[in-house]
Amino acid sequence: MRRKIVAGNWKMNGSQDLVRSLVGDVKARLSGLDNGVEAVIIPPALYVESVKGLSGDSLGVGVQNVSQWASGAFTGEISADMAKDLGCDWALVGHSERRQYFGETDELVSAKVGRVLQSGLQVVLCVGETLEERERGEAKAVVSSQVASGLAGVEADQWSRVVVAYEPVWAIGTGKTATSEDAQSMHAEIRRVLADMGAPSEQISVLYGGSVKADNAAALFAEPDVDGGLIGGASLIAEEFVSICRSMP
Ligand code: 13P
Repeated sequence: MRRKIVAGNWKMNGSQDLVRSLVGDVKARLSGLDNGVEAVIIPPALYVESVKGLSGDSLGVGVQNVSQWASGAFTGEISADMAKDLGCDWALVGHSERRQYFGETDELVSAKVGRVLQSGLQVVLCVGETLEERERGEAKAVVSSQVASGLAGVEADQWSRVVVAYEPVWAIGTGKTATSEDAQSMHAEIRRVLADMGAPSEQISVLYGGSVKADNAAALFAEPDVDGGLIGGASLIAEEFVSICRSMP
């Protein structure tokens, strides 16, 4: 009953050539796939329009970040309304790279979630603990607190546009994946926090991210609380990305 989603976060990678070759290839390879998975591409914002033009309605499209402000004198920023205006369906908020390299705090992340939902887009709130936090035994506390604060302002009629992505920082781009058991355990915890917040937790998709590849996706997706994936590196290779989409039961 929950949506199954596989989203490719291109991060700061790509070019017009890559957009042209990859989007068409992904689209072609996905045709006929009937496991109910929603495939989403999240390119750098400059390429959103061309990805959207090439994918039509067959793929969801998103941005990797938005401003916390609606509009105005904020040089270099892009707004959630602009992403919506260009035909985007999704916005990522709170990716660990934003938290780590751009100083995004839980407070800022929460403001951005609010802005995305106000614009009518769907939000993927990214959460995850660092290696040090995991080693100190704080992983669940950290992730629970990121979920609770990031989604604190969500209104009752907005939950259907909320997705959470659990991305342990130590698994991102490292080739180390959480075991399916660890992912399942954290996803169940996230769902518990959502229920505590009064959210319809059984209907909210929780994606796993961090070195997901074609050869480990099936084991992760087989877990009952893992509803899909947020894919970095492997989303830049059509065959690999589609193979991950096909790994959904
Ligand atoms: P990798 O799949 O490259 O580890 O990246 C995961 C990620 O950060 C997706 O948002």
